[in-house]
Amino acid sequence: MRVKITLACTECKQRNYNLMKDKKNHPDRMETKKYCRFCRKHTLHRETK
Ligand SMILES: [Zn+2]
Repeated sequence: MRVKITLACTECKQRNYNLMKDKKNHPDRMETKKYCRFCRKHTLHRETK
């Protein structure tokens, strides 16, 4: 059930993180606070295709 996803910064739209998620635990689009090196601060990152 593990799938590869990309996390994109919701402020600058840069794709900053590639990671694996467990579809069982996160059936919906994931949102998480992570550091964006383009914004140079922690921003909300959202799963994208
Ligand atoms: Zn950003």
